[in-house]
Amino acid sequence: MPEPLPSTRSRIPGSGLAKGLAVTLRTMTRKTVTAQYPDTQPHLPPRSRGVIGLFEENCTVCMLCARECPDWCIYIDSHKETVPAANPGGRERSRNVLDRFAIDFSLCMYCGICIEVCPFDALFWSPEFEYAETDIRDLTHERDKLREWMWTVPAPPALDPGAEEPKEIAAARKTADKLAAAEAAQAEQAAQAEQADHAGPTASADADPATPGATGPATPPATGPDTPQEGES
Ligand code: SF4
Ligand code: SF4
Repeated sequence: MPEPLPSTRSRIPGSGLAKGLAVTLRTMTRKTVTAQYPDTQPHLPPRSRGVIGLFEENCTVCMLCARECPDWCIYIDSHKETVPAANPGGRERSRNVLDRFAIDFSLCMYCGICIEVCPFDALFWSPEFEYAETDIRDLTHERDKLREWMWTVPAPPALDPGAEEPKEIAAARKTADKLAAAEAAQAEQAAQAEQADHAGPTASADADPATPGATGPATPPATGPDTPQEGES
């Protein structure tokens, strides 16, 4: 004999209601996962792809990011500037100066290629996401806004214990050490000069006349009255 179809099976009256209430009770006792945004800010992972920040001091206007962007939504303008030679007889150099850097976030697909290809660490992901606009044209953000977003970029994660120090940090430390040594030498020279000034003319006069640099006011000029002049007989 064929099994009766489900619609024709006998049901206990009110079983559907009991099932529904059971689901409601189970859900009521569970921890809620709904965040009441904007009253509650969501806890985003630090490496979230919210928006792109520009560290324009690092940008050399190499145009790699604009060329590699699959959506062509990075707009860069620049001009060339001549930098005079650092030393006499040296050659002038020319460098690119950034005039405009903008990203159209209505076209951006957050692929991160621009950040990956930038050879000078000028672009970074920021978890900032609250930049919705009512007009799509306002989603093109210029360099000042992109620079502001740099302050929301999280610090890089700590290195593993025993990991080799990145070469950028080693180079920066070397430069900082050199600068500190140069500043210390300058300060020492200034202190010595000040000490010599405080010693005054008496000390200079007492000093060995043969000593180079003992040229205080009391030192007779080399061309004084007693010095025979050229042509005198
Ligand atoms: S994230 Fe991708 S689409 Fe967006 S600007 Fe960068 S390269 Fe272009
Ligand atoms: S790739 Fe980097 S350095 Fe080159 S233009 Fe883009 S942001 Fe600037």
